[in-house]
Amino acid sequence: SQPLLQVKHLKTYFFTERGVAKAVDDVTFDLLPGRTLGVVGESGCGKSVTALSIMRLIPEPPGRIAEGEILFAGKELLKLSEEGMRRIRGNQISMIFQEPMTSLNPVFRIGEQIAEVLQQHQRLRKREALDRSVELLKRVGIPSAESRVNDYPHQMSGGMRQRVMIAMAIACNPRLIIADEPTTALDVTIQAQILELMRELRETTGTAVLLITHDLGVVAQTAEDVVVMYAGRIVESTTVKALFHDPLHPYTQGLLRSIPGTTDSDEKQRLEAIPGVVPNLLALPPGCKFNDRCRYAFDRCVKEEPGLLVPKPGHTVRCWLYA
Ligand code: SF4
Ligand code: MG
Repeated sequence: SQPLLQVKHLKTYFFTERGVAKAVDDVTFDLLPGRTLGVVGESGCGKSVTALSIMRLIPEPPGRIAEGEILFAGKELLKLSEEGMRRIRGNQISMIFQEPMTSLNPVFRIGEQIAEVLQQHQRLRKREALDRSVELLKRVGIPSAESRVNDYPHQMSGGMRQRVMIAMAIACNPRLIIADEPTTALDVTIQAQILELMRELRETTGTAVLLITHDLGVVAQTAEDVVVMYAGRIVESTTVKALFHDPLHPYTQGLLRSIPGTTDSDEKQRLEAIPGVVPNLLALPPGCKFNDRCRYAFDRCVKEEPGLLVPKPGHTVRCWLYA
């Protein structure tokens, strides 16, 4: 089927006093309708900037989308007016963030906040919108929804607040949900419940999900396809199955070793999984951007940056080992 979302050669830069930080540098991927694509990498690798670029929420200045195309259902988002983009945001594409406390308004009741979304995009009357809010809270598994709808955000637990955010995100039956570290602030048990809820909703609604996370374990539980990012670039992309079965990029191999509970990850190895620090975008090494942390680096790696290679059908990697 036709991709729902196509990101093509996206370049998003931040112009700072110390130089140009190329937060996203030539990123290309497709997301098919009804699928979940995981975007994984350490903080600062460009995952969130990619998401904000799709939503056209890059703070400008210092940020700017310097190049590229973002096609959503065939529409070029970067060419839409701000008004046109507002109609898409929260309606056809919605977002879920890591910390619901910052996206929920502390002075309004939960129900009013969900109703507001519905009134804005679906032209429901206040009463209808409030009734629908109760339904949505039930839908995301909030017990006693009829009374919880009157709660203020601080009266709920972190897990419940994240369910509220999901209720808001699905309120207008979006075609795409962008979830940026949706479970990172939650403990492991609640995290598993939220991921299960997201999977269940996706199966019943057919909504596509772009799932941004630093945690390959979350990708394994939730996504079918995956792109791994490093220093603003995609370094590997394939199905989740293929990535776990046969990770090609040394960085991906390190990320896999760092998942708790995988075969060879005792605490010590986890700490050693990827030596070095996340890259400084203003001082990237020449050649492969991972060469200062890579145990396999050889001459060519410090001279030339590898392009994307396709050593196996449907499996792309940016690494000279496969040239
Ligand atoms: Fe390591 Fe070289 Fe591959 Fe970069 S290109 S990941 S430095 S082996
Ligand atoms: Mg982030």
